[in-house]
This record gives sequence, C-alpha cells and structure tokens, in this order.
Amino acid sequence: MAELKYKRVLLKLSGEALAGEKQIGIDPHTVSKICAEIADVVDMGLEVALVIGGGNIFRGLSASAEGMDRSSADYMGMLATVLNALAVQDALEKTGHPTRVLSAIAMQEVCEPYVRRRAMRHLEKGRVIICAAGTGNPYFTTDTAAALRGMELKCDAIIKATKVDGVYDKDPMKHDDAVMFKHLSYEETLRRHLKVMDSTAITLAQENQVPIIVCNMFNGSIKKVVTGENPGTTVEGD
Ligand code: UDP
Repeated sequence: MAELKYKRVLLKLSGEALAGEKQIGIDPHTVSKICAEIADVVDMGLEVALVIGGGNIFRGLSASAEGMDRSSADYMGMLATVLNALAVQDALEKTGHPTRVLSAIAMQEVCEPYVRRRAMRHLEKGRVIICAAGTGNPYFTTDTAAALRGMELKCDAIIKATKVDGVYDKDPMKHDDAVMFKHLSYEETLRRHLKVMDSTAITLAQENQVPIIVCNMFNGSIKKVVTGENPGTTVEGD
C-alpha cells in the first residue's frame, strides 16, 4: 500500500459539489461518488476531518443582497451546511466507515456539538468527523471554518476538493486557454485574488504554514495528494 504523506487532513467540500449536475440541492448519486473517494483514503489510515459548505442550498451574502438581514441569512446558510453534513454522513456510513457530525451550533437531537478535544479523540479512533455549521458565526464562510478547524485539529494539510483540477489563471469552465498553476505562494494567491479559498482562510493557513492543496474531487486525486503527488495546485511557502 502506498505510504501516506499526511497523517491527518482537513478536507473542504463546497456545497455546490454535492448538487452534481443539478447545481442546487443534494444529488445522492454525486454524494456517494465523493464519499467513495473519501472512503478510499480513510482505508489507507488517513485521519479525515471534513468541512462542508452550504452554497447548494443557501448563501447568506446572496440573500442579504436581496434585502435580508445579513446575520439571519448567514444563520440560514450555516443550517444549510448541517443538511449537507447529514447527507454526507449517511453516504459515508453506507461505505462502512464510522462518522460523527459535529455542529458549531448546538442541536443535540441531530448531532454532537463541536468540542475540539472530542473531535481530536474521534479522529484518533479513526472516525471521520464532519464539521457542520461553519464557525458558528455570521459574516464568515465555510472556507474560513475549514482553515480554523484545520489549525485547531492540527491537520497537516487543507485539501480543497473541487469540480475542476486545481487553481487556474481564469475560469476553466469559461476559457479553453485557462492555465492551471502547479505551485503558488500564499502571497501570490492573495495578491492576484486567485480563487483558492477566501482571504481570511488563506491568511490563517499562511500564518500557520499549513499547505492548501486544491484538487479534483472525483478522479482519484485526493488519494494522489495524500500519497505525496501534486495532481492539482499546492499553495505553500512565501
Ligand atoms: N456561514 C456563516 N458562517 C460560517 C460559515 C458559513 O455565516 O462560519 C454561512 C454563510 O451565509 C455562507 C453559508 O453559510 O454563505 C454557506 O457557506 P459557504 O458559502 O461557505 O458554502 P460553500 O460556498 O462552500 O458551499
């Protein structure tokens, strides 16, 4: 079996990823496909903490642009991430892997509250943890939640799994001549406003020198990343 480069990673999935071709909502077939990729790396002994977005259901910023109170809209966005977390939990458990959903907003009938030391213990026991409800605070994003959880859970890397292969100089869905970066520094990513993660998340990773790796979520790339290959884009160093 290939050797792991990392012991523990934080894997960020955007909500949109779960919608598949539908763009909105949850597509169970797509969720199962993603979970099969996650199950593969868990079977290799990798400790995995997931942070899931909610953009396939509700985005606070868009709703506030339509006139809704920003904080209320953001709480709705955080609740959307809990729906996604439960869908991923279901699909992951069907692959035979124990999981725990840990929410930054308490809802004891549905899932455990996020308690850092408990989360660490689950990881040590080989359970996949799914961190829901973002940071629990409005005005943040799940990218920032991913960086935050990545730091406090002492993850060796943040993997952002997306529908495309990595970070490009322009949108690869719209431009045929878009060029993918293999390596980027945190500085350059921030300066060029490249769509890796939001700037708060990148700064947090930079301050703690934790690499951010962007890769495709469907074609075995996650496995390549955790065994030391760079199929997508790695952001690290200065
Ligand atoms: N959100 C929030 N605080 C957080 C994380 C998320 O208020 O710490 C809200 C925010 O409204 C955001 C929504 O939840 O628009 C969904 O998260 P995000 O947009 O990051 O999801 P993704 O784009 O990854 O699907």
